[in-house]
Amino acid sequence: MAQRQFDLAAEQLNLEDGLRQILRNCKRSLEVTFPVKMDDGTVKIFSGYRVQHNIARGPAKGGIRYHPDVNLDEVKALAMWMTWKCAVVNIPYGGAKGGVVCDPKKMSLGELERLTRRYATEISLLIGPESDIPAPDVNTDSRTMAWIMDTYSMHKGYSVPAVVTGKPLSVGGSEGRREATSRGCVFTIREAAKVLKMDLKDRPVVVQGFGNVGAIAAELLYNLEGSRIVAVSDSRGGIYNPKGLDVKKLLAVKREAGTVVEYRDGDKVSNEELLELPCDILVPAALEKQIGEHNADKIKARLVAEGANGPTTPEADAIFFAKKIMVLPDILANAGGVTVSYFEWVQDLQSLFWSEEEVNAKLEQVMKRAFRDVYAMAQEHNIGMRQAAYLVAVNRVAQAARARGIYP
Ligand code: NAD
Repeated sequence: MAQRQFDLAAEQLNLEDGLRQILRNCKRSLEVTFPVKMDDGTVKIFSGYRVQHNIARGPAKGGIRYHPDVNLDEVKALAMWMTWKCAVVNIPYGGAKGGVVCDPKKMSLGELERLTRRYATEISLLIGPESDIPAPDVNTDSRTMAWIMDTYSMHKGYSVPAVVTGKPLSVGGSEGRREATSRGCVFTIREAAKVLKMDLKDRPVVVQGFGNVGAIAAELLYNLEGSRIVAVSDSRGGIYNPKGLDVKKLLAVKREAGTVVEYRDGDKVSNEELLELPCDILVPAALEKQIGEHNADKIKARLVAEGANGPTTPEADAIFFAKKIMVLPDILANAGGVTVSYFEWVQDLQSLFWSEEEVNAKLEQVMKRAFRDVYAMAQEHNIGMRQAAYLVAVNRVAQAARARGIYP
């Protein structure tokens, strides 16, 4: 799928053949197999990967996931998407991704720490503050990043905070990192609302997935823009009230009961029904492939902002384009996270830290500019925003690769 998407953009940009072959493939793939001492005294062997897709525009950047389904092909596709995501918001990074095949839910904290430290050592051939900077992804978090930073620093003999991002504040993390993805998403929604001539105040919004990205996006739209959040959901189901939900109460219910379906002042809806509810803005922020051929023409929103990665299939995209529904594609709408990761790295390198206001103001600048670049491309070629985002991104990477030439 990642290669197909790239091929489409390459065709439209009329990229020369050699460059197509370069960008279609990953530059480096490292596979590691390593032992970890388990709590019961046995030794278990784990497999892991670190892949760099392209580094023409700068050091490689991308998360590390721990999951039983991790495999090399998936890591390669995710690395390629990171290249485009960094390029579309124009931050000076290439794309990378890493992963370990494991089930973290069945491992103790000690086992996870030993696994992380050994994996970090194995991939230290590639990672480093000038070469490749990991971040959290599925099932990894700021604690995992602190272990990687510590392990790398132990080998060097001094602290190297800039080797990873998404760290705790106490070891060189950035203010504003936790909300960054959602805040970036809201900034792009704001820009889109301007061109759609849509006032966000009291505007009905539906959010699928009340997790990290979805819950904070709902909170920001509610608090900053005065939007009316009419429905939200999580893996247990959704809750709907056309008059609006009280987001503060929702957050408390989610915190206490672990699910939004315990919220009293609304009707229960399934995740499928939720997507088709009347609203102006739909934020899919849960899983991939939620909107496809089967439901795209039932969607009533005017604007779909992809908090999640890959929630819309290519077939649904075509339906949205025909229906004049604007899509803010994942590589644009959820790029706020990697943007503030970049800010964290910059702060670590200069050992000078910014206030939350400074971080948010800089994020707003980056997201606004990225939206305008993509929107201008979409208008110029009369294409959808996703295709436009790919054209902007692939073109930037192609320009860098061309300027550098082929070594030797
Ligand atoms: P999360 O685990 O915090 O939240 C996911 C939410 O979706 C949970 O509330 C879960 O209950 C819910 N969910 C699961 N299955 C569902 C279903 N079938 N229907 C409806 N809801 C369901 O994860 P997150 O960090 O918020 O990530 C969500 C998406 O955003 C993922 O696609 C992720 O790749 C993407 N993303 C996250 C970040 C980030 O900074 N966290 C950055 C970029 C992209």
